[in-house]
Amino acid sequence: MKKCMMACNLHGLGDLRYEEVPVPGIKDDEVLLEVKAAGICGSDIPRVFEKGTYHFPAIPGHEFAGIVAAVNRGDEGLMGRRAAVFPLIPCGKCEACQTGEYPQCADYDYYGSRRDGGFAEFVAVKKWNLVFVPGSIPLEHAAMCEPCAVAIHALSRTGISLGDTVAIFGAGAIGLLAAQAARGWGAGKVILADVDAKKLAFARELGFTCTVNTLEDDPAEYIRSVSGGRGADVALEAAGVSAAVEGCLTSVKASGSVVLMGNPAKDMHISQKAYWEILRKQLLLKGTWNSSYNDAHNDWRLALECMERGIFDLSRMISRRFSFAECGKAFELARLREEFYVKIMFEKGGGT
Ligand SMILES: [Zn+2]
Ligand SMILES: [Zn+2]
Repeated sequence: MKKCMMACNLHGLGDLRYEEVPVPGIKDDEVLLEVKAAGICGSDIPRVFEKGTYHFPAIPGHEFAGIVAAVNRGDEGLMGRRAAVFPLIPCGKCEACQTGEYPQCADYDYYGSRRDGGFAEFVAVKKWNLVFVPGSIPLEHAAMCEPCAVAIHALSRTGISLGDTVAIFGAGAIGLLAAQAARGWGAGKVILADVDAKKLAFARELGFTCTVNTLEDDPAEYIRSVSGGRGADVALEAAGVSAAVEGCLTSVKASGSVVLMGNPAKDMHISQKAYWEILRKQLLLKGTWNSSYNDAHNDWRLALECMERGIFDLSRMISRRFSFAECGKAFELARLREEFYVKIMFEKGGGT
C-alpha cells in the first residue's frame, strides 16, 4: 500500500491545495476507500470560500463513491466492493441514535466537514457508512446518492400520492432530483418554479414541461391554471428564500402540505397575506433534514433502487467533470457561476 496520496486540502478560506498527504490509516471498524468520483455540493462553496471547516487543514467532499482498496483482517470479503458513503457518523449513544434517527444525533461527526472527506485519492471510512452499489450503476452516479437521498426524503415528507400535482420552488440540483423522484413516484403534474431562466430551460430538457419564472409570472396563478384551478396538492421549498416559501403557501390547495427544504441564506420573512394562507387553508407545514439511514427506512438504498430503475437522469445532471488536480479550476467555476452547471464532479480514471 502507498504511504502518500494526492488530496485537495483546505488550508484556509479560499486556500484549497492539491498536494501530497499521508494515506490515512484504518481503525478496526474502517476500510480504506479509493475514491473514484466525488461531487461538489452547493454547501462546499461557502465551506471553501467563506465559512471554512471545523479545523484546517481539512479535506472537503461529502458526496463520494469508490472501491474498497484495503481492509483489516476478517474483512477480506469487502475488498474490491463498490460503495457510496453516508457521510454522517452518529455517536450511537444519544436518544436519536437509539431510534435510528441519525441526522438528529446530538454529537455526530461528518466526512468532508468535521473530518476528512472525499476530495482525495483515499478515505478511511467506517464499514457502517458504506452503501454498496450494484454493478449496473456507474460510480459517478453513486457519488450523487446523497443529493438523491435528500430529495427522496423531502418528497416522502410531503405525503405525495398517485396523480398529485407537485410544485417545486427552486430548480437547483436537489429541486430537479425531487422533481424526477416525484415523476417516478406517480405524480400527475410536476411544476418547477425558479427565478433563473437557464435552470428552467434545463428542467424542460429533462422533460418537465410545466415551468414558471417567478420574476415574470405569478406562480400561484400559473399553478392554478395547470391544475384545473385547484392549486398544488403538495409544494416543496427548494431554494431557501422567503419568496419561495410564499410561493409554496399561495400555490398549494386547501389542506395541502408544504415541505421546507432549502437552506436559508439569510432571515426568512412571511408576509401577512401568505401567513393567512396557512390559517385559512389549514396547511400542513413540515421541515425536512438530511435523509433516513436505518434498516426500517433507508433513503440511500431507495436512491440506488431509483437509479437502477432509471428514475434519475444523472448523466445529464453532471455538467462538468474534473480531476482532483484541477480542483482550483473546478471551485472557481462553481463559485463564479458564470457558466451554467448543475453538478460538478471530480473523477479518477478507471473503474467508474
Ligand atoms: Zn451535499
Ligand atoms: Zn447520537
